[in-house]
Amino acid sequence: MTMPFWRRRISILGSTGSVGLSTLDLVRHYREVHGPQALPVEALTAHRNVARLIEQAREFRPQVAAIADPALYGDLKTGLAGTGIRAAAGPQALIEAAAQPSDWVMAAIVGAAGLAPTLSAIRRGAVIALANKESLVCAGELVMSEVARSGARLLPVDSEHNAIFQVLDQAARDHVVRLILTASGGPFRTWTIEQIQAATPAQAIAHPTWSMGAKISVDCATLMNKGLELIEAHHLFAFPETKLEVLVHPQSVIHSLVAYADGSVLAQLGQPDMRTPVAVTLAWPERTGAPVAALDLARVSQLTFESPDERRFPCLGLARAALQSGGSAPTILNAANEIAVESFLTGELDFLGIARVVSDTVETVVGRYGSAPASLTDVHEVDLTARAAAAETITGRTARRRALG
Ligand code: NAD
Ligand code: MG
Repeated sequence: MTMPFWRRRISILGSTGSVGLSTLDLVRHYREVHGPQALPVEALTAHRNVARLIEQAREFRPQVAAIADPALYGDLKTGLAGTGIRAAAGPQALIEAAAQPSDWVMAAIVGAAGLAPTLSAIRRGAVIALANKESLVCAGELVMSEVARSGARLLPVDSEHNAIFQVLDQAARDHVVRLILTASGGPFRTWTIEQIQAATPAQAIAHPTWSMGAKISVDCATLMNKGLELIEAHHLFAFPETKLEVLVHPQSVIHSLVAYADGSVLAQLGQPDMRTPVAVTLAWPERTGAPVAALDLARVSQLTFESPDERRFPCLGLARAALQSGGSAPTILNAANEIAVESFLTGELDFLGIARVVSDTVETVVGRYGSAPASLTDVHEVDLTARAAAAETITGRTARRRALG
C-alpha cells in the first residue's frame, strides 16, 4: 500500500509569498482533516519578510527556517529562540534548506533567484511542485536534464500547466495538435495604447481575476507572463513552439486546453484559486479535497475568448521570439524582464518601457552567448550580464527623458 499523501514530509521554498501562503493554508486544512501530525514541514524559506517567516515557523514547526537576506539572521534566531527550530540565513542556507530530506517541495520563490534552491531539491530526487516558472525560463535545458538524471518528479503548479498536466494523455502525444494556454488578458485588456502608456504600478498590480505577488501581476499586465508560460510549457511538455497557442479568456475559468488530431479539445476548469493546482500536486498521483469554492457555471453564465493583441502587448511576441531562437535568449529575456519590472514598480520606467528594455537587452546581449547555458555558473553569467545591460538601458532612457524635460 502506498503512503497516504498527508504523511509526506514537505518543504516550502518562498513560504511567505502568495503561493507559499496558499500552500500553508492547505496544510492547515489537511491537519484539520487528518490530524496535527499530517504533512510534517521540514523547511520554510523567505527573502526578507522575517516577521512572517517566524510566525509561520512557530505555527508549522519546520526543522529549519532560512532567510535569504543574511542581515536578518539575528532577528530570525531571536524570533525562533526556545523553539528548537534551526535558523539559517544567506543564499547558501536556502540551497541547504532545499537539500534537507523531504518528499514534496513547493518551489515558490519568484524569479531566477529560485533556480539554485529548486535545483538543489531536484538533485535529491524529490517531488517538486513547481510554481517558480522563471527557473524553467532561464535554465530550461539544465533543469530538465537534472530532473531526468535525478529521477525527481516535476509537477506544474502554474494553473495553465497544471491544467494541461491533468488533460494531456501522454500515450497519445503523437496525436496532440496544440496546447492552448489561456490568459486573462490582465487589467489593461480593453485599454488603448495611450491609456496603457500612462499605466501606474497600482493599476498594473490590480489583477482582475487572480490575487498574486507584485512581479507576476505586472507580468500579467504586459502579457510577459503568458510569454514566460509558453517557454515553461515547451520545457515541461516537450512540444515545439509551433504547437503552443495563447487564447485570451477573461473569466479565468478554463485554465488551459489540449487539442487532439481527431478534433477533440480537452480542458480543465476551476475557480481562479491556486489552492486547486497546489492540491493536485500535493495528492498526486491520487486526488483529495481542497477548501475551494465549487465552480458554479450557471452563475458564471458566459465564457468568452479572443486572440491576444501583440501590438498593445509586445512582450508576448518577444518571449515567443526568444523561445524560437533558443540558446541564451530566454535567459536574457527573463533577466531583463525582472530588472524592467522592478524599475517599473519603483517608478523609474514607464509601463511600455518594460517591453522596450527587454527587446533592447536581448538584442544587445544575445550575440555574446551562443548555446543555452549548461550549468548554474553559465546561467548566472548570462543572467548577470543581461541584468547589467538592462539596468544600463534604463539609466540611459531615464537620462534621455530628463534631458528632454
Ligand atoms: P510573491 O512575491 O508573493 O512571493 C515570492 C516568494 O519568494 C516570497 O516568499 C519571497 O520571500 C521569496 N523570494 C523573493 N525573492 C527572493 C530571493 N531573492 N531569494 C529568496 N527568496 C526570495 O510571489 P508569488 O506570487 O507567490 O509567485 C511565486 C512564483 O510562483 C513566481 O515564480 C510566480 O510566477 C509563480 N506563480 C504564482 C502564481 C500566483 O498565483 N501567485 C500563479 C502561478 C505561478
Ligand atoms: Mg499561470
